[in-house]
Amino acid sequence: MVNFPFFRHNPQGFTEYIEMPNPDRGFEVEAFNILLLYGMSAIQAKAVLAHELMHVWLADNGIIDIDDALCEGSCDYASYMFLKDVGSAQSNYIIRIMREDLDPVYGRGFRDVERYVGTNGVAAWLHMLHEEARRAPSSYAIQSD
Ligand SMILES: [Zn+2]
Repeated sequence: MVNFPFFRHNPQGFTEYIEMPNPDRGFEVEAFNILLLYGMSAIQAKAVLAHELMHVWLADNGIIDIDDALCEGSCDYASYMFLKDVGSAQSNYIIRIMREDLDPVYGRGFRDVERYVGTNGVAAWLHMLHEEARRAPSSYAIQSD
């Protein structure tokens, strides 16, 4: 889920996971539905879509039960990568709102991931997400037991 400016604390996007039984892994995600709030600007909608697609990437890689701030911060970082490439006044404004957000999950999570990627790079961030999922006490595979 993502809450973006201008309605930062109201949902603007949501990803629904459709799970199917799997004899080896218990369950696996078979499909996704991504819902976007109607009426956003094109840039906002694409930024929200980038966030939701990062949720899909995480689930598709079995990275399910990680810290909420790391999860949402990573998804906001995917939006940030899109917004940075756009480089418009509106995209820069949205980035500023993300950086200044006081929310302990979204705002802090984004700042932590931005700092991590700035120091270590994108490949290290994606690797770290896999490692965090392996360390999680109730990873996706374990939940299905
Ligand atoms: Zn989210």
